Amino acid sequence: MPILKVVNYPAEILEQTCKPVIKFDRKLARILDDMYDTMIEYDGVGLAAPQIGLDARIAIVDIDDELGTIEMINPVIVETSGEQSGPEGCLSFPGLFGEVTRPNFVKINAFDRKGRKYTLEAEEFLARAIQHEIDHLDGILFTTKVSRYLEEDELKGVETE
Ligand SMILES: [Zn+2]
Repeated sequence: MPILKVVNYPAEILEQTCKPVIKFDRKLARILDDMYDTMIEYDGVGLAAPQIGLDARIAIVDIDDELGTIEMINPVIVETSGEQSGPEGCLSFPGLFGEVTRPNFVKINAFDRKGRKYTLEAEEFLARAIQHEIDHLDGILFTTKVSRYLEEDELKGVETE
């Protein structure tokens, strides 16, 4: 399956609110498969549709845990609580990492590729990755939330989203 080109900042598509998905068809399934291959190729833990130049509320997250790949279509955050701070990176900002503070817990409603609605609760790193990707669908980039950029010697084990 094709590896797609990741859109790097600056680009208009990265800073706009994306349109909801209306059709849950084979085209959507193909986009999700291509996004997965692209995320894996670039060693990311998440990818949002605008990062491949697509104006659509589609994002995936895979932090290599027992949940596997989480496919989020038209996701909505319905609850957050707590706070966490940690390093964050983004496939659209190669080589850039910064400390970001986000809620520690998140509850979302979203649809899977078949159009079935589901609810998911996550905390810690998974919650961070989910929030990072959903931000992308609203044109919000992690750089707007960075409190401090990280130096190269602080980057061990930092994942890119
Ligand atoms: Zn990102």
